[in-house]
Amino acid sequence: MPTVNDTARHGTTVLRASRLFDGETASPVDNPVVILEGTTIAGIGCAADLRHGETVVDFPGATLIPGLIDPHVHLAFDASSDPVKSLAERDDDAVVAAMRIAATTALRAGITTIRDLGDRDFLSLALRGAADLPTIVAAGPPLTTVEGHCHFLGGEVAHRPAELRAAVRAHVERGVDVVKIMASGGTMTPGSLQEQTQFDREALRAAVSEAHRHGIPVTAHAHGHRAVLDAIEAGVDGVEHVTFWATEGVDTPGRELVERIVSQRVALGATAGVLPRTDSVMPAPVSQRMPAIIANFAALYAAGAVIVAGTDAGIGPYKPHDVLPYAQDRLAAFGMDPVTILRSMTSVAAGVCGLGHRKGRLRAGYDADVVVVQGDPIADLAALHRVVAVYSRGTRVDPGSRTTA
Ligand SMILES: [Zn+2]
Repeated sequence: MPTVNDTARHGTTVLRASRLFDGETASPVDNPVVILEGTTIAGIGCAADLRHGETVVDFPGATLIPGLIDPHVHLAFDASSDPVKSLAERDDDAVVAAMRIAATTALRAGITTIRDLGDRDFLSLALRGAADLPTIVAAGPPLTTVEGHCHFLGGEVAHRPAELRAAVRAHVERGVDVVKIMASGGTMTPGSLQEQTQFDREALRAAVSEAHRHGIPVTAHAHGHRAVLDAIEAGVDGVEHVTFWATEGVDTPGRELVERIVSQRVALGATAGVLPRTDSVMPAPVSQRMPAIIANFAALYAAGAVIVAGTDAGIGPYKPHDVLPYAQDRLAAFGMDPVTILRSMTSVAAGVCGLGHRKGRLRAGYDADVVVVQGDPIADLAALHRVVAVYSRGTRVDPGSRTTA
């Protein structure tokens, strides 16, 4: 265990552990050192490269991995049994305070980057860049139809292409990193049904083309088969949920749709990850459909689709803001092996968040986001629950307490 001051005089920290997973390479590096300089990884080497007198933080028996990345969270939802009500009862100052707590909870579990896919009134944007929080990629309020799914977040738009273009422009002017659009209904909103579409294809296309004109990606919330198909046709960069939800049970995507998802490299956010706690279960309509949803994802994965966990953290007690490590079980059920799961939570998720050039890999020049887990996650992914230390842009995070199962 480290006994020395973590940050040496010249702002350099050297981490030494038993092995390293770089976010990509299947075989781990043995006896690595990672040199952190300020907020960046200055270099990766082996113990023999150490210079005399350098201060080393030792983690015997542990593995260094890139900071984990959750591409679908809601900092404004507090993971209570009624997060919509909690949010409605809070003024903006109270919401921001709760969002800071949510982001800190994620960071302590080793989640050093999060993509917030739906806040209220753009409140997540001002949290970006805070030194004590994870890196935040922010969508602001999701675009939705009048009284549509999550309308209470403030993103209602009239169902006309020109209105959608204007709404996207307004989001871009506010400085969002990504646009989230509700292509279908969802569970959290009374009067909204997952199996029904919200915007038609023409409206979705208008939103996507306007966002892309400004260099901003679009991810669509889509449950029903038709909504997924329309979003893919409209050229979205990602689709969240992708449950193929039907009135009764779940549809199966046709081969053509699967091929389009794969060939367009559309990132699928699987809403994977729940606390395995008996007092904290997902709603019955979801759990009943889960075997068929998993079977669809397994087919998409086998076909070569890009799949990330995208937990939807915050929407209930079974999805706290540090739930991402628990997504490993669901991703394994899709057929992913441990290395693929680790890539999905690091380098692949970084690309999905538009940060593949500086996040998700342990590599010189990348952000110094490093998680130290006890054991070897490639041999035993449960190591993701044994976080020993977290470095976020070079700063060691106060461990605090974590949500456990
Ligand atoms: Zn969501």
